[in-house]
Amino acid sequence: MDIKPGFPFWLVKNGILADFPKLTRNLEQEEVVIIGSGISGALAAHELCSAGFKCTILDKRMLTSGTTWASTGQMSYEIDPTMLQLSQQYNEAFAVGVYDASLQALYDLKRAFQQAAINPGVESKSSLYLASDKKGLKEIDAEYKLRTKHGFPVSYLDGRKLESEYGLQRRAALHHGHAAQMDTYRAAVGLILHHVIRQNLTVYTRTAVTSMEVSANKVVLVTEEGFRIKARYVVCAPGNEAGMFLPKKVMSLYSTFALVTQPVPADLLWKDQCLIWETCRPYFYIRVAQDNRLMMGGEDMKFRKSKGMKDTLVARKAKSILSQCRKLFPRIPVKPEFSWFGVIGETKDGLPYIGQFPGMKNVYFALGHGGNGTTFSMIAAQLIRNQICGKMDYRKKLFAFNR
Ligand SMILES: Cc1cc2nc3c(=O)[nH]c(=O)nc-3n(C[C@H](O)[C@H](O)[C@H](O)COP(=O)(O)OP(=O)(O)OC[C@H]3O[C@@H](n4cnc5c(N)ncnc54)[C@H](O)[C@@H]3O)c2cc1C
Repeated sequence: MDIKPGFPFWLVKNGILADFPKLTRNLEQEEVVIIGSGISGALAAHELCSAGFKCTILDKRMLTSGTTWASTGQMSYEIDPTMLQLSQQYNEAFAVGVYDASLQALYDLKRAFQQAAINPGVESKSSLYLASDKKGLKEIDAEYKLRTKHGFPVSYLDGRKLESEYGLQRRAALHHGHAAQMDTYRAAVGLILHHVIRQNLTVYTRTAVTSMEVSANKVVLVTEEGFRIKARYVVCAPGNEAGMFLPKKVMSLYSTFALVTQPVPADLLWKDQCLIWETCRPYFYIRVAQDNRLMMGGEDMKFRKSKGMKDTLVARKAKSILSQCRKLFPRIPVKPEFSWFGVIGETKDGLPYIGQFPGMKNVYFALGHGGNGTTFSMIAAQLIRNQICGKMDYRKKLFAFNR
């Protein structure tokens, strides 16, 4: 088997979609500065520019070349922590609030793309959440009861139905029709370009922010090259590198792996080409991408800085992901063509932190998005816009640092 670890599929497919110069002077009076040009920074820019703010994005790398490049582009109202887990850890009202926010975010994302007149290949999909084992079966039963109790869209498929409709040999699954897939890299770049063209947004790439001084009515950022930027508000969306801007550790870093196969015969694909994932952790997930290629991932592990081992590790993880695919769909002949990895930041409860950190006035964070990053990025963008505008938002307490 020949798996070449390297760039994510999206970069090869799209190429470099846009680029911007680096910052070479001080900026004295910025209204909003956003650190990070990933999907979180792009959506924050979209919401804030649409609300009338002038924004500036700073990114230490090329445009949108952080974790957003690596995303497999699946979105669903179902998130990594189940509603049951959240209701046990907090309470049912809290869990319902988070799932409500997530469901709404799926549709708000589509609306944001329409507003910006971009089409990042969004396709509505249904989703199957498979019981991986006996424990998973119990979890699925309880999750189904809780979600139906609160009116969330979900149906239960037993083993017989799963086999007859999807050809899958698992004990049970949850099914719903509120999911989607897209090209997240194109989405982020598209949103950014939309506002750059309208002159609401300025972007500097290869501009690393190395420190942040917060005072009562302004924030001063300093770049690696010593330039100073004074801003009224800062949105801090640097993905898994957010830790450097906070006085304490709030998330752990994980490596997660993905691969894309060569095109497979269309008649062997499963019903509705729905998104598929499962109850065990770390979980395996799979979807159908362009030209009937399969895109899949999983095998998460604690992130370790290693020198020279990266390619071997990605190749090993890709083999393992592929063998999980073969177990699930033994009739589909799969040959890998692209494989890559990325680093995600996860909080203890699997929910992101969005908003202000105590004592850091006028700085708004969007971090710890884990594996369901995109819907959380949407929530973060709206919540931060509302906080800056002084509007009430029921989601504030769900994602606050002190929840
Ligand atoms: C393999 C893989 C598959 C995934 N699949 C999915 C999926 O199917 N669905 C889903 O919803 N999510 C998925 N995710 C998660 C998703 O990719 C992330 O949640 C999302 O991309 C995070 O976006 P972001 O904008 O917050 O961070 P990033 O995309 O990482 O952007 C942060 C940006 O900040 C910049 N930056 C960092 N520090 C500084 C600094 N000091 N100064 C200036 N700039 C800075 C970086 O260069 C970077 O461009 C996946 C992740 C991986 C790795």
